[in-house]
Amino acid sequence: MEMSMEKPHVAFLSSPGMGHITPLFELAKRLVLHHGFQVSFLVITTEASAAQTEFFVSSTNDFPPDLHIINIPPVDMSPILTPDMFVLTTLCLIVQESLKPLKNIILELPNRPKALVIDIFCTQAIDVCRDLDIGVYSFFTASTLLLAFSLYLPTLDREMEGEYVDLPEPIQVPGCSPIRTQDLLDMVKNRKIDEYYWYFLHVSRLCSVSGIFANTWDDFEPKSLKALRENEFYRSIQTPPVYPIGPLIKQEEVVTKQDAQILAWLDDQPLNSVLFIAFGSGGTVTSEQLIELAYGIEMSKQKFIWVVRKPSDASASASFFSSGSEENDPSIYLPKGFFERTQKQGILVSSWAAQVAILGHKSTGAFLSHCGWNSSLESMVHGLPMIAWPLYAEQRQNATMLAEEFGLALKPEVVNGKNVIGRKEIENVIRLIIESDEGVKLREMARAMMESSKKALSDGGSSFNALNTMVNMWKTHE
Ligand code: UDP
Repeated sequence: MEMSMEKPHVAFLSSPGMGHITPLFELAKRLVLHHGFQVSFLVITTEASAAQTEFFVSSTNDFPPDLHIINIPPVDMSPILTPDMFVLTTLCLIVQESLKPLKNIILELPNRPKALVIDIFCTQAIDVCRDLDIGVYSFFTASTLLLAFSLYLPTLDREMEGEYVDLPEPIQVPGCSPIRTQDLLDMVKNRKIDEYYWYFLHVSRLCSVSGIFANTWDDFEPKSLKALRENEFYRSIQTPPVYPIGPLIKQEEVVTKQDAQILAWLDDQPLNSVLFIAFGSGGTVTSEQLIELAYGIEMSKQKFIWVVRKPSDASASASFFSSGSEENDPSIYLPKGFFERTQKQGILVSSWAAQVAILGHKSTGAFLSHCGWNSSLESMVHGLPMIAWPLYAEQRQNATMLAEEFGLALKPEVVNGKNVIGRKEIENVIRLIIESDEGVKLREMARAMMESSKKALSDGGSSFNALNTMVNMWKTHE
């Protein structure tokens, strides 16, 4: 590997999963392409999903020469992982084992990086970098409201007994919008299990980094950003400077032959007429819910593209480590005849689609999404309203924010206290978002958000300036 001695060098490290890799990678590319940096991007290869492997293999040809991919050797996790482990516990154990040789990997880089940028689940790197005298920066890839909550969590943990979900009132995060207990992220819903242990461990180290990048922008989350900058609580815990540099979304993606066919089909559809349906890199619904969703889509008679996955009655994140590869024959679990009846109405995609290309197409009119943070940003950047269908992690919080605070999304209701959204309700929200005046209003809000995001990223905009501040610091400090 050839590295220029003059160009400033920064290293990146993300936990597995496209939701975290994508924004870190976009930041890395920006440093190389717009700011003259060289970057070493360290990739955890253990148990990588097909989507992740495909991303690094297929895009390698297009990487700029100063962006170096360094694969961390895979480790055998079979003595450590058990099938009943939840997704965050599994992920954190993979990271912990994979990072054991981190010090040597950094020492073997052709020249010493000025900084290491990590995502929230790689905080083991903080001690390693302290030994090597390298500054560590965190890239928080979810909302700033969740960042604020996460910074507050150690205090909440100290001051409160019992479960947070049992609190009678919403949680008042200092300076931010209150979070309803039912919207709390899954990892903090049971303080006695490993999911909580891992989340707590990583967020409790947030204040020991030199700075935190946030995938947001000033005009989008002003309240939470102001709180982090000015509220007494965050000062008292010595919150590092927060740099809102977003929205950083995937700029280009792997477009397979199948994706090309989908885009060609979209070319033939009317403007804003198609609903795109996808649940992120790992989201799955139950078999009962999948049937209702299928009927709801069919009954709406609206055009659709649906990334459909095998249902799971055990976990809403069942596909996290297999996204893009799982065996999948929709005819087994979709209603009988669905495929035949909807042939003219829409397209089923198995497991994985070129989401950004689809969202960016003029015929796409709305996005039914699990409200992962990247998907939410991708929708906003393309001015699309959403049907919010949160499944796990912090997605309920995102859905509430998008629907109630920003008026960008409709939230289908679960009726009769059941845990399933019925077909009639699904039909209604799809019609509303694609065909009604309410849909037009939501689209206008989404368009306004798109303009606001463009402004933030353009020359002199808030996100542009926040990144420049960091870039200049890295360029001038030895
Ligand atoms: N994604 C995609 N095709 C799919 C499903 C997901 O390209 O069929 C991408 C999507 O564009 C986004 C990422 O995977 O960039 C998912 O990230 P998000 O934060 O929305 O959800 P997560 O996967 O972390 O739950």
